[in-house]
Amino acid sequence: MSSSLESLYQEVIMDHSRTPHNHGLRDGGSAESHQLNPTCGDEVTLRIHTEGDTITSLSWEGHGCAISQASASLLSDVIVDLDRAAVQERIDAFRELMRSKGTLEGDEDLLGDAVVLGGVSRYIARVKCAMLAWVALEDAMAKTPAA
Ligand code: ZN
Repeated sequence: MSSSLESLYQEVIMDHSRTPHNHGLRDGGSAESHQLNPTCGDEVTLRIHTEGDTITSLSWEGHGCAISQASASLLSDVIVDLDRAAVQERIDAFRELMRSKGTLEGDEDLLGDAVVLGGVSRYIARVKCAMLAWVALEDAMAKTPAA
């Protein structure tokens, strides 16, 4: 990856951690999940609203490092108004990217701006930071009764 692209990616991550999207839990909701990354001290609580099989809203709150918070923000932009199968496909694609140790660039059609986190996969210790919100979403979906 060129260094200019890498610094652009870092800028997107910093923007999302400073001004997180969909931050602050919305009332109601179908399910929520609280996830902790003790090695870094990151926490995310994520709540989803569903209608039938579709996730209509994702809101979250948390604290921790820039990567964990930016990842939750980026995730919240990617999955709204998709059905469960499409959301799971994106979680799987993100997990594959995070396990790639920098060998994958990430599918922007599936992951949108969240591909900027691809570089994190080179730093094993930070992968858990980036995965935290995505694991929370998977957990929240598992707790949501099937439509
Ligand atoms: Zn972290």
